[in-house]
Amino acid sequence: MLFVMKELAGLDRVAALPGYEDAGLDTAAAVLEECAKFNEGVVAPLNADGDLNPSSWHDGAVRTTPGFKQAFRQFAQGGWQGLQHPPEFGGQGLPKLIGAACIEMVNSANLSFALCPLLTDGAIEALLTAGSDEQKAAYIPPMVDGRWTGTMNLTEPQAGSDLSLVRTRAEPQPDGSYKLFGTKIFITYGEHDMADNIVHLVLARVSGAPEGVKGISLFLCPKVLPDGTGNDVHCVSIEHKLGIKASPTAVLQYGDGTPASIADRAGPGAVAQLVGQENRGLETMFIMMNAARFAVGVQGIALAERAYQAAVHYARDRVQGRPVDGSLNAAATIIHHPDVRRMLMTMRAHTEACRALALVAAAAYDAAHAHPDAAVRAENRAFYEFMVPLVKGLSTEMSLDVASLGVQVHGGMGFIEETGAAQFLRDAKILTIYEGTTAIQANDLVGRKTARDGGATARAIAARIEATEVELNARASAAGRAMAQRLAAGRRAFLDAVAFVAGQGKSDPNAVYAGSVPYLMLAGTVVAGWQMARALIAAEDQLAGGGDTDFMQAKIATARFYADHILVKATSLRDAIVDGAEAVTALALESF
Ligand SMILES: Cc1cc2nc3c(=O)[nH]c(=O)nc-3n(C[C@H](O)[C@H](O)[C@H](O)COP(=O)(O)OP(=O)(O)OC[C@H]3O[C@@H](n4cnc5c(N)ncnc54)[C@H](O)[C@@H]3O)c2cc1C
Repeated sequence: MLFVMKELAGLDRVAALPGYEDAGLDTAAAVLEECAKFNEGVVAPLNADGDLNPSSWHDGAVRTTPGFKQAFRQFAQGGWQGLQHPPEFGGQGLPKLIGAACIEMVNSANLSFALCPLLTDGAIEALLTAGSDEQKAAYIPPMVDGRWTGTMNLTEPQAGSDLSLVRTRAEPQPDGSYKLFGTKIFITYGEHDMADNIVHLVLARVSGAPEGVKGISLFLCPKVLPDGTGNDVHCVSIEHKLGIKASPTAVLQYGDGTPASIADRAGPGAVAQLVGQENRGLETMFIMMNAARFAVGVQGIALAERAYQAAVHYARDRVQGRPVDGSLNAAATIIHHPDVRRMLMTMRAHTEACRALALVAAAAYDAAHAHPDAAVRAENRAFYEFMVPLVKGLSTEMSLDVASLGVQVHGGMGFIEETGAAQFLRDAKILTIYEGTTAIQANDLVGRKTARDGGATARAIAARIEATEVELNARASAAGRAMAQRLAAGRRAFLDAVAFVAGQGKSDPNAVYAGSVPYLMLAGTVVAGWQMARALIAAEDQLAGGGDTDFMQAKIATARFYADHILVKATSLRDAIVDGAEAVTALALESF
């Protein structure tokens, strides 16, 4: 993590931004060290427990896995919730670059646990951007210090990927507040016992608002009202799931029934406040969603890292089969077999590449927010926004592949629950679904991020990749030149796909969207490969300067593996996008 921060993401440049002066390498190293200790000691041991003994619902109340509540208290007391949030609200004001690495650690330790702070971060960010001064003062400090937590209430039975179908109703009240009526489903940590209050951020429609996304507003609706009474929002059940079993996924009923505690209020309905302006809710929610999408991408990296570590551990231990090169006259540990090495290298290279992608994006986010020059801010914002669907889409899809390889490395024992490898695979699957499925990320990349500016941002990124190729070609090393060749082929494939997406979007949308997910995978693979190329350059330079030899050689070997085994897929993705669109829609609907 420190290597990526320092050599690829420009930690020094981030620490030179106003407000981040204390966020240099020493701070980053100290924070990561403490974060690792905390997560290893307190959070990770609860991961398997949560799978075996999930959150449970009884009579409207949710009890989390034993140990979660205490762990969350320690998390809050350690200041981990406030890491990236502004000091004026009790946070530590560290850049996203350092915060993202800490988020990776807590998710590696325990994905189910980490979801609670993840959603709270999103709620804080939404209020920081769109909340009134009163809302900020009342709701942000208790969330930053972990006494309260936050949720994101978008989904309804008929409104999943398509939020224009949201039906939850908001009735304006004479005192300027609103009352909410409706059902939200799949609300992560929508009810739990780990905090004193839960701040729900809810998408709803003010009575008489226009149809579609233009009529959606954002509301803040606490579980417990400021006067200490319970609000009219109830958890009517929680879901039974494939993975992340410890994290409660709640069905919330707003405004159904009048609890005795609020019987003196004017009728039923969950008391809520508008956040921002009426009918502009989706824009604000996008702030929260973008923060959460990035964080879910980091969840993928976190899970892949843990699956990789477990697989390496097992492969060093399990004895089976003689080495094909005859180097041992008896059965050896399976890590000796080239195919096991291929699996481990695939897991490692994917994880490192996606981590580099995410942390480079995080540094761009920091510059987009804090750089004094408006033009630099704008350039970084465009880069970061292009990166969000890549971080979310690529890292989560790869985490599923990596977790599946993790099971494969374990052989039959991987399929048996005791090793934990199976839990990683089950937990990974949700990552490609929530916060927008991979297809929704791909739609965003195609429509808003590529076609809208005619491919300009994508081409600017390709130009930066080309500059790295020039640097690689100028090197004496065989690894550098081989990487340059693969990267150039990947970049050309990417540019062909950009031209196709930006050019055909209007005339033949079906053809473009038939390749939207492959386009996301292509863009992600090439941009992540670019980071691996930069890592190779940095590692070779460090090696020449007498840096940690084993570490730097491992960086070079992993980058080379990425080039030869993963980056090579870019050209076939290009063919599928540009030449394969027709085949996707050739079969008539009735023929399925
Ligand atoms: C465990 C869990 C936790 C969750 N937590 C939260 C939460 O905290 N808050 C919250 O609000 N929601 C939450 N969700 C909901 C989640 O965000 C949605 O499930 C997700 O957005 C997909 O919506 P859907 O399930 O309705 O699937 P659908 O929208 O019905 O999608 C079904 C399939 O159709 C595809 N599809 C749909 N539309 C398009 C399109 N336009 N283009 C291409 N393909 C398309 C999808 O990619 C998918 O493959 C959670 C869900 C789960 C399972």
